[in-house]
Amino acid sequence: MKLPIYLDNNSTTPIDLRVVEAMMPYLTEKFGNAASRSHAYGWEGEEAVEKARTQIGKLIGATSKEIVFTSGATESINIAIKGAYEMYGEKGNHIITCVTEHKATLDSAKYIEKHGAKVTYLPVNSLGQINLEELKNAITPQTILVSLMHANNEMGTIHPIAEIGKITKEKGILFHVDAAQTAGKIPVNVEQMGIDILSLSGHKMYGPKGIGALYVRRSNPRVRLAPVVHGGGHERGLRSGTLNVPAIVGLGKAAELALEEMESEAKRVADLRDRLYKGITKELDEVYLNGHTTERLPNNLNLSFAYVEGEALMMGFKELAVSSGSACTSASLEPSYVLKAMGVGEELAHTSIRFGLGRFTTPEEVDFAIDKVVGTVKRLREMSPLYEMAKEGIDLKSVQWNPH
Ligand SMILES: *Cc1c(COP(=O)(O)O)cnc(C)c1O
Repeated sequence: MKLPIYLDNNSTTPIDLRVVEAMMPYLTEKFGNAASRSHAYGWEGEEAVEKARTQIGKLIGATSKEIVFTSGATESINIAIKGAYEMYGEKGNHIITCVTEHKATLDSAKYIEKHGAKVTYLPVNSLGQINLEELKNAITPQTILVSLMHANNEMGTIHPIAEIGKITKEKGILFHVDAAQTAGKIPVNVEQMGIDILSLSGHKMYGPKGIGALYVRRSNPRVRLAPVVHGGGHERGLRSGTLNVPAIVGLGKAAELALEEMESEAKRVADLRDRLYKGITKELDEVYLNGHTTERLPNNLNLSFAYVEGEALMMGFKELAVSSGSACTSASLEPSYVLKAMGVGEELAHTSIRFGLGRFTTPEEVDFAIDKVVGTVKRLREMSPLYEMAKEGIDLKSVQWNPH
């Protein structure tokens, strides 16, 4: 077993060696510029790019012509939001998104707000879900776009994309979906789900980093977006810049593998996730699951541990590569805005740990993680007077604290 054990697959996934193998020729002898039309080096580059476009289209139920290559989901999301606002600004200036979106969405929304847009940020309930009635009520004649993630990267809750797609279709509003956490993990189909624009990322699906795709619907309706990067007119003018052929080939291969193996992999990973959850909660009380119990990603487990200290917890988990629910912003520890939006209290947010399992996670690694987590939390609680008092049945809220 290689330590630390990698359990941060919602942050990035290791590249699949089959993807590396597919990329190798394009990192070496097949180095042509896919835009070079006058010789064989260019042609073989272009051919490889078109093959990848088809592979990615198949993964999400789109045609190859609807796939645009970008540097990742962040860029795709920027083009979707800024590009739609610029193109449809005449029609209306209102977009709807949600408070638990990825920063790429929230920061793009803030950017267009500075340029005259009105943005509704839908709240979520304690499970991370939006209220569809609230979504419907937020729609005005000025609304041009709804932008939501398929599944949340922190606590794994899945939004009912097909139901939302029905609502946006009925109202004639464009629907952008950030599928960075779901493309290649669970079924995504732009036709069945009524999606008009979709963002995905290579490094979240065992492909290379720095490559992603944007799906832009070409019919019913034909979506037009303004470019964010201007230049040689690559990617039908929507994203200029010489194509990263090896990374594109890798993303295509990753999409093909994901489609072939999705069903069995999702089941295997979800079983491991359940084994981890059961193993921890069998030995420990006062452990809280963040996110929805069933409407969640197969590979994500986000838990808060009461009566321990967040930093001490992470220190105790040195042999586990996991993410914590707190991010260091300047000098202070800020609890995650996602957990905050779900109403998770500050203390539980500080002790939240995201376990992200993946294609290469083994049962042995999960059992090792269970031992580590249980051992660390037990040890920390033994030193915690609060835990002891709670176990003795003392209501901590009734205790008069001496500030000295
Ligand atoms: C990782 C991620 C992104 C950003 O993707 P990059 O390819 O790293 O830019 C956006 N949204 C979600 C939900 C993600 O998980």
